[in-house]
Amino acid sequence: MGRPQPDDTTAPAQEAERLEDAALLRADTAERYEEIVTDVVDRIAARLRRTSAPSSGASHRDLQALVDAVDLDASGIGEAAALSEADDLYAQHAVWFHHPFYAAHLNCPVAISAVAAESMMAAINTSVDTYDQSTVATLMERRLIAWTCERLGFAAGDGVFTSGGTQSNLQALFLAREGAIAATGRDRSAVLPRLRVLTSAESHFSVARSALLLGLADDAVVPVATDGDGRVLADALREAVADVRASGDVPMAVVATAGTTDRGVIDPLVAMADACDDADVWLHVDAAYGGGLLVSPTRRHLLDGIERARSVTVDFHKTFFQPVSSSALLVQEPADLATVAWHADYLNPASEAASEPNQVDRSLQTTRRFDALKLWTTLRAVGADGLGRMVDTVCDLAARVRERLDDDGDLRPIGRTDLSTVLFRYQPAGLDDATADRLVPHVRRVLFESGRAMVARTVIDGRPCLKLTLLNPDATDSDIDGVLGLVRATARGVLAGERLAGRAAPDAEASAEETAR
Ligand SMILES: *Cc1c(COP(=O)(O)O)cnc(C)c1O
Repeated sequence: MGRPQPDDTTAPAQEAERLEDAALLRADTAERYEEIVTDVVDRIAARLRRTSAPSSGASHRDLQALVDAVDLDASGIGEAAALSEADDLYAQHAVWFHHPFYAAHLNCPVAISAVAAESMMAAINTSVDTYDQSTVATLMERRLIAWTCERLGFAAGDGVFTSGGTQSNLQALFLAREGAIAATGRDRSAVLPRLRVLTSAESHFSVARSALLLGLADDAVVPVATDGDGRVLADALREAVADVRASGDVPMAVVATAGTTDRGVIDPLVAMADACDDADVWLHVDAAYGGGLLVSPTRRHLLDGIERARSVTVDFHKTFFQPVSSSALLVQEPADLATVAWHADYLNPASEAASEPNQVDRSLQTTRRFDALKLWTTLRAVGADGLGRMVDTVCDLAARVRERLDDDGDLRPIGRTDLSTVLFRYQPAGLDDATADRLVPHVRRVLFESGRAMVARTVIDGRPCLKLTLLNPDATDSDIDGVLGLVRATARGVLAGERLAGRAAPDAEASAEETAR
């Protein structure tokens, strides 16, 4: 079977028919599928072998031009050409998280088993909504939910895979909202404006946005004070809950963060669980980042208290080395999850609710990817302890980097490192705060634009700072030294450039005056 060539224009109508005829995966296209996918795998493997930086460094403007140049209304060019084009356009300019000089956000290099599983599930295209569409896939997802609950210490928990921590948090707060309204025994419309969510300013923005999406009042999110490292002060939480009650409002949920996105610190889970128990408030633990500690051989204790949460978010696509997307929402009480159930006669009629395990009854999504297959194959391939050692490796690396910064003349560390985040500023002795502040976004941008290394920036206690999020177990100390070396060199380069420009400016003015004369 000859492959259609893009320049084969002898019989355009016939050619178009041939392309369409071969477009879908089925018995007589299996061979073609094998060829095309093998081709893509070969291309990616070749790129992995030769990728020497996190990205190509192509500018936004150049990339926009490349994207705009593709005619999406043109007639088909065939799979081989389309995938080759995608390789040139996308793979060529993608940001590669496996490169040890990528240290910016919460992105991880991915487990090979999971990538292979991803292509398996894409080809089969299972949707884990009703049992009659997914059969064994539903049972595998449910096994993994049970496994995660066991790791959490939920005796009889339940849960569902989601698209990410944002969705897991939204669903958790939705369940908490319904629970709180039901508990008051009053009208939804009367209670809704009175519901309050207590959390620190360090919690993920999806908490505040969920409150908005859930129709809560504009001031529904009550900020709870933190210690100098950005962790909730349990006494302040107790007071805040009491204040909410005293003003006639309803504490709908407390959100603790196990691994804040910005600093990677863990709220005091046990003390917060005590406060929530005493006040009878729903505790949600957002462990999107810290969830990997569930398998850590040495750091599991950092999550002590998580077993007392009513709901938990875990992002497998962060600290379990899974390809995007893979997350789960877990609940302590299976009945809590029932709130989302919605029955449709064509899909999951209420009359048959007990007879088949329909995951759609637990999800905000209907059609939903079988992401669980990726975690399943990774656990089988590497083992839970193996995954946990990978988590430990990145935390150990971060701890060493953080320690070395204590003695660094140019880079000053900020805050503590519980997980794998290291915050710092370029500020050698004698450099004033304002200049150090100004350098932060500048250095990040120059590095980003070079494509050679990627770090993030944020603001901690009003001070801009740079951030390393280390999630690559293959990155070595010398790799990170290399990244920090580039940060130093970039900062010096920026300062030197500014000094030059500072001198150039009066000269330029002088020559402009001369020209005018
Ligand atoms: C990343 C993160 C989220 C959001 O998760 P997504 O998977 O990006 O939607 C929520 N909470 C915390 C603490 C996170 O770090």
